[in-house]
Amino acid sequence: MPKFIFVTGGVVSSLGKGIATSSIGLLIKRHGYPVKPLKLDPYLNVDPGTMNPFQHGEVFVTDDGAETDLDLGHYERFLNQNLSRKNNATAGQIYESLIKKEREGYFLGKTVQVVPHLTDEIKLRINELVEHEKDVIIVEIGGTVGDIESLPFLEAIRQMRLEYGEGNTLFIHVTLVPYIKSIGELKTKPTQHSVMKLREIGIQPDLIICRSEKKIGTEIREKISLFTNVPRERVVEMRDLPTIYQAPLILHREKVDLNILKKLNLSPSPEVDLSDWDSFVNTLLKLREKVKIGIVGKYVDVKDSYKSISEAFVHASVSNNVKVDLKYIDSEKLEEIQDITEEFADVDGILVPGGFGYRGIEGKIRAIKFARENRIPFFGICLGMQLASIEFARNVLGLKGANSTEFVPDTEHPVITILPEKRNLKRLGGTLRKGAYPAILKPGTLTFEIYGHVREISERHRHRYEFNPVYREMFEKNGMIVAGESPDGYLVEIIELKSHPFFIGVQFHPEFKSRPMNPHPIFHHFVKAAKNRRYGK
Ligand code: GLN
Repeated sequence: MPKFIFVTGGVVSSLGKGIATSSIGLLIKRHGYPVKPLKLDPYLNVDPGTMNPFQHGEVFVTDDGAETDLDLGHYERFLNQNLSRKNNATAGQIYESLIKKEREGYFLGKTVQVVPHLTDEIKLRINELVEHEKDVIIVEIGGTVGDIESLPFLEAIRQMRLEYGEGNTLFIHVTLVPYIKSIGELKTKPTQHSVMKLREIGIQPDLIICRSEKKIGTEIREKISLFTNVPRERVVEMRDLPTIYQAPLILHREKVDLNILKKLNLSPSPEVDLSDWDSFVNTLLKLREKVKIGIVGKYVDVKDSYKSISEAFVHASVSNNVKVDLKYIDSEKLEEIQDITEEFADVDGILVPGGFGYRGIEGKIRAIKFARENRIPFFGICLGMQLASIEFARNVLGLKGANSTEFVPDTEHPVITILPEKRNLKRLGGTLRKGAYPAILKPGTLTFEIYGHVREISERHRHRYEFNPVYREMFEKNGMIVAGESPDGYLVEIIELKSHPFFIGVQFHPEFKSRPMNPHPIFHHFVKAAKNRRYGK
């Protein structure tokens, strides 16, 4: 029989439930069980793709082109496993499919209700993940216990305990144990209340993960155990850590994996090996030399907007044995100041990430010009690549006013545009190129070197506009190399500058494929170039 682990959160949001879920998934996987994660988001948007990064952080993209919650990024990075649209569902999607069924007459005139119809639909999404009888499905419920909108989800997992039984289902509750400075004490009351709330709906947690800034001693654990009815050995501490990558190691030390397996009647593997994580974390915590990368973007106040990028830099830090400090630079600010030299005085590399809309664009173009002219390692991602093309068109090719039709629809030089065959599709929507696409690399280029001389790569996309092939020849004649293109040679996927130590722009999002033990090659080499610039070869 498959096993189900349900992770809920209490007291406050942003507790690191996603990290806890990912870490537990990793541990179970290392014991030899296939792990399938699922994030259930209680909001009504049909997908996170249209949600504002200011509110919701990064939109993560899977190979099959699903736009998902950023927790899927953590799952992929920890589990080292590619996920798909099956691994994330929002209440909006679930309601949508339920209402569609109702419209199609599926319910034959019956009253359609939250219980059992919506809860059945939720269980269907969970059960869809089961492929193998050995599967362990880990379901993370977004939001906090007590939210009105999470109720149908909690009710659905309560029913699953009834259907599958105790030995096949497990409830984990992640909660906050706050430290009150003035009296120097950790407080268990919020946890007690949050568990009470869960029990009111009929869920008794089997394991509690206590998030706190301080060490949780025996006394506190015993108190939580007493009030929540969870055995003492299953009240675990997950303290604030210098890096999220420590979490699986800490939980392993707390024997969380053994306790979970025991509860689920699964046998632990005697030789579970975490030495790769151990050494990754050890290296990471001991890095001494530093480089600074400037990220020029619009969403810089919300660090979660660039989550996969910042994680990719953590991976590349370890692989280069240098600590990458990120300096987030507001692109709009760059539009206002006269001389931007000072802004970049301490950076060893400049990255322009993806984005939508005209705000802050000219500031990013200034940053790119600065990187190009001053031979500072430059890495442009998606919009960053498009802007590098615009900058080159304007300042090297002399095409005045060159732009993307996203910003100036009737620009004289539409270097970036919606390609003709997609233009009439515009009103139908669906013009976004999403998910994995192949690209063919050009031998002899820096990119070809970086990818280890492979001819064909696959990377994930999420954009509407493309490099306009009309301008390609002009670019190539003047020092911009097309280092990667679509297999039919039509789409420009990677550009690089001939006479520059490191200047690469990619139409895709490499950050989605970087993993701790397997950093993305472009991130690795970008950091290497930055390190060379600071410390010399
Ligand atoms: N706004 C650009 C486009 O739609 C770039 C998108 C992105 O950076 N993800 O093509």
